[in-house]
Amino acid sequence: MAERKIEKKKRKLEDENRHFQSEWENVYFFIHVKDNAVCLICRHRISILKSYNLKRHYEQKHGEIDKLTVGVRKAKLQSLKNNLTSQQCIFHKQTAQSNGIVSASFRVSHIIAKNMKHFTDVNYIKDCLIAAVEKIGSEKLDLFN
Ligand SMILES: [Zn+2]
Repeated sequence: MAERKIEKKKRKLEDENRHFQSEWENVYFFIHVKDNAVCLICRHRISILKSYNLKRHYEQKHGEIDKLTVGVRKAKLQSLKNNLTSQQCIFHKQTAQSNGIVSASFRVSHIIAKNMKHFTDVNYIKDCLIAAVEKIGSEKLDLFN
């Protein structure tokens, strides 16, 4: 009796080569954000991009949208997309701002360490302030010149 060696090849998510289909946006109100599908209505995130998963979520949670007319449905989709885009812009702006503050802090610390002087030296303080303004927002740089 010969023993047969059965090799089980484990399937990985990446091997399935699933991609977000653009029609899912109109059909299920999902958009593609960083390798995930995000529901425009409740912001639920689905990482496995299968039509069945999106359809199941849409039908179970938001079945009432199917009752809308085509025009109202399109307007609602556009409105939800605009809302999400504006929210993403706010978060992106805040992240960029806080990165600028951290960067300015490092730059000022570097100047302090490099000069090893008291804060009585006017030029030294001016250098610190200019470095901070350059990192946070260059539009206010004109105030120091
Ligand atoms: Zn949802």
